[in-house]
Amino acid sequence: MNKIIIAIDGFSSCGKSTLAKQLANTLNYVFVDTGAMYRAITLYFLRNNINTNNSLQINEALKQIQLSFKFNADKGFSDMYLNNENVETIIRDLPVTQNVSSVSTLKEVREFAVLQQQQMGKQKGIVMDGRDIGTTVFPQAELKIFVTANIDVRVERRYKELVLTNPTITKEAIKQNLLERDNIDSNRAISPLKKADDAIVLDNSLLTREEQLAIALNWAKEKIGE
Ligand code: C5P
Repeated sequence: MNKIIIAIDGFSSCGKSTLAKQLANTLNYVFVDTGAMYRAITLYFLRNNINTNNSLQINEALKQIQLSFKFNADKGFSDMYLNNENVETIIRDLPVTQNVSSVSTLKEVREFAVLQQQQMGKQKGIVMDGRDIGTTVFPQAELKIFVTANIDVRVERRYKELVLTNPTITKEAIKQNLLERDNIDSNRAISPLKKADDAIVLDNSLLTREEQLAIALNWAKEKIGE
């Protein structure tokens, strides 16, 4: 069967990964969460006090980093591993979340991550979500989806997730973090977050997960030619 590349981009906490996972499961494709890769790199930088103004130090650090995804059968998708340590949970915590967007502006970091992402897509049959997938990683992707949602809807969804592990978290703090990340991601010099010219916009503010999946699946099937 004709396999394609599906690129999903959009702002923070718009439900990109949820959609990408569902699409990958339904189509039997590989799912890659590129945000997890930038988060794992950020975790390494924080743990090792890497000076992000020092290109030499950044390059030396990147040489020590080995990223991999390993399938977690209980969850039905892959966990992020940093040098063979499962970091799936810790990379979602506040210290990484607050620093990931500035680490993601670094040229060396982007080249390191993008090269690996392009390798993963060589066989096609992949759904990759991030910020620059349709513009930089796979400009030739057959299907590009740009996901958006109203900021208050995004805050509400994120709050419901985070409050389970962090009962003191506030909606205001979440909103600030989302807006700050969107701002850094959209305005950085290298591969800023922006809709590819040929991407389809999917505003899911008023959609359930099932409705969102049904829409995207139709687009995918059209491209696959089923
Ligand atoms: O997708 P997630 O919110 O986990 O991504 C975390 C951060 O990683 C984003 O805010 C962005 O700064 C960075 N990122 C990126 N390019 C990607 C994916 C994520 O710069 N392709």
